[in-house]
Amino acid sequence: MSETNSMIIKYWGVRGSIPSPVTSEQIREKEAALIKKIIADGGIEKLFGARPDDGKIDEYLNSLPLSLSGTYGGDTTCFEIQVKNAPLIMIDAGTGARNLGKVLLGRLFSAKNLNPLNTIEKFNKDVYLFFTHYHWDHLQGFPFFAPGFLPGNLRVNINFYGKSNTRQRLSEVLAGQQEYPNFPVVWEDMPCSKNCTELGRLEPNSIQVGEARVTYQELTHPDSVFAYKVEAGGKKFVCATDTEHKDTPDPRLVNLSKDADILYYDCQYTPQEYVGTPGTLTGALTKFDWGHSTYEWAIKNALAANVKTVVLGHHEPMRNDFQLEELLERALKYRDEQLKLAASEGKKLNVIMGYQGLIQTL
Ligand SMILES: [Zn+2]
Ligand SMILES: [Zn+2]
Repeated sequence: MSETNSMIIKYWGVRGSIPSPVTSEQIREKEAALIKKIIADGGIEKLFGARPDDGKIDEYLNSLPLSLSGTYGGDTTCFEIQVKNAPLIMIDAGTGARNLGKVLLGRLFSAKNLNPLNTIEKFNKDVYLFFTHYHWDHLQGFPFFAPGFLPGNLRVNINFYGKSNTRQRLSEVLAGQQEYPNFPVVWEDMPCSKNCTELGRLEPNSIQVGEARVTYQELTHPDSVFAYKVEAGGKKFVCATDTEHKDTPDPRLVNLSKDADILYYDCQYTPQEYVGTPGTLTGALTKFDWGHSTYEWAIKNALAANVKTVVLGHHEPMRNDFQLEELLERALKYRDEQLKLAASEGKKLNVIMGYQGLIQTL
């Protein structure tokens, strides 16, 4: 991370719908595949020498796909966005918010500043948390977000933003998931200062957050969803999770993400699962109107908007790490096919599979 970074994006959760921790069975599959890979690469002694040191082992593990060296992660949606001279920005507080909270405690105790790129003292203990929507997988980490529990001098200020809702206020949505008997600490007893702002749904609009500009745009999802664009220093990150396109790139999303550096996009289903494949476990039902999308639409939208990098995310909970890598292969092939089409000539598009722990700098 250099002094010249305008923005750092950290992915704390990219799983869709429900947390899906790695199982013992999946770890055994990884171990067996890793052993076979080591043998195929010439064996331990050839790879690491007679006395393997940690550096060599690290180097080898870093050269492997995540299916062998780690995991794409089971925590649900949560992004941290650090922008120069701005409060800390978060998008969604799925279960990934728990691990982010632990890191933020460390920053508060050591540097007394939640955002390492911020140099403006008044922002040191401010969080701006933007919710895409209120489905459980996007807010259930908040009751476990440790900075919210700091009292007295350490108290943080959390500014919540989300779409207006005809039946409940934003504060009621958040308080509701902590009501007795579902959680031991009610919302009102969390010591952080809480400011809730409801955003109008029909027109895109922007909010200035220090040197960052955050623009929201309503997209298609059951009960609707907001996509967010964060801009700073000429760089653009767009988060478009939980959205669906049936037969054409969404002009609202194309407009929002025009020339973006990074577009994070919902790829919960394969194209076959989306239309429905009778007789298969995940594809028996069509997924029309479930509010999720495919890698094909990630790529079509990204090309239509001239995006540099599209990150595939909101992974289907049934999918293991090997299957996610197969999906990426299919996505890359599809990208290459699309780029060959006459209308797309001259364009480039970087496609990556989102994973928990991914860090991007702009
Ligand atoms: Zn979701
Ligand atoms: Zn949703």
